[in-house]
Amino acid sequence: MNTEKTHKITFRASFIAFSLLLLSSCTQKNAETYFESMNTFMKVRCYGAESEKANKEAQKRISELEALLSVTKPESEVYRLNHTPSFPVEVSETTANLLSFCLDMAERTDGAFNPCLYPATSLWGFTKTSFHIPSQKEIENILPLTDWKKVTVNKNYITAAPGMMFDFGAAGKGFAGDEAIKILKAHGIKSALLDLGGNIQTIGVKPDGSEWTVGIKNPFGAEPLGSLCIKDEAVITSGGYERFFTGEDGRRYIHIFDGRTALPVSNNVMSATTVGKSGVLCDALSTSLFVLGPEKAAAFWKNNPEFDYIIVTADKKIFITDGIVRRFSLLPPAQEFETCIIK
Ligand code: AMP
Ligand code: MG
Repeated sequence: MNTEKTHKITFRASFIAFSLLLLSSCTQKNAETYFESMNTFMKVRCYGAESEKANKEAQKRISELEALLSVTKPESEVYRLNHTPSFPVEVSETTANLLSFCLDMAERTDGAFNPCLYPATSLWGFTKTSFHIPSQKEIENILPLTDWKKVTVNKNYITAAPGMMFDFGAAGKGFAGDEAIKILKAHGIKSALLDLGGNIQTIGVKPDGSEWTVGIKNPFGAEPLGSLCIKDEAVITSGGYERFFTGEDGRRYIHIFDGRTALPVSNNVMSATTVGKSGVLCDALSTSLFVLGPEKAAAFWKNNPEFDYIIVTADKKIFITDGIVRRFSLLPPAQEFETCIIK
């Protein structure tokens, strides 16, 4: 081949490569949306040619789910379900499927997770922020109304005992994150970070190819306790510090209830964080592990190793599963904490 011809080919090849680079940088757009939904602040950041449209549709889907699952909005489907004079009640496929998932979680956690706690959370004033300690009689009266074993889902029809009421607060945000991710992926998004009120859900890795680094909240202070590298995963935390009140008896009552007793949890757990592929599963599990406490959580994990977790207790211990320990770094506020690796 003569030199002139070689130069022409090299020039043509580099021109094509340059054009492709230009094209890909033009199409690698990003969009960031902030909005309020499900009683919290949400942020969706995604990268891709259709990022703006994808973000808008993801936000729309989250709002639709809020309109379906809200326990306080009188026009929502769950509100209608909770205020029905009699069962069965027909609901959308989405609500029926979510309830089936939650009942399955109740079964798997021996009732630590319970989607029928609305009579309890409202009795203690958590649904309207009018906190108070109920009387023993009131507590006894509502306990049978939280018996999830009395609930059946048959296609789109829900049957329960009269007076039973549902609360999807422990799984709804993770479910909304999964639904938003489905929409983003349908628009070709391969890199995204969703922060739905502190629930982190991601698609792929950062546009530069590195993993996402997320902070793990310190239940004792404002600075994060540690950081975790993730890709294509959800990181979801349940914390007793999120909503609580101090009763006239001087004790703290938190918004996470024991699904078996229908009473606010009082164990030594400060926070439970779960890491895994499914947002709805991680959300349900973060609440479940909080209720179960470190020992039962470890036993549960050994039989269900499809996720990882970090539990922080009041005596400054960090229980962390083997699967994420090498991706986790302790930050200065937690350097004196004792770390226990669960294998
Ligand atoms: P999370 O922040 O995901 O742990 O969810 C806590 C919310 O879920 C509470 O505010 C209640 O609405 C509801 N909840 C509380 N305890 C439980 C439980 N044991 N199982 C299912 N839902 C619960
Ligand atoms: Mg949860």
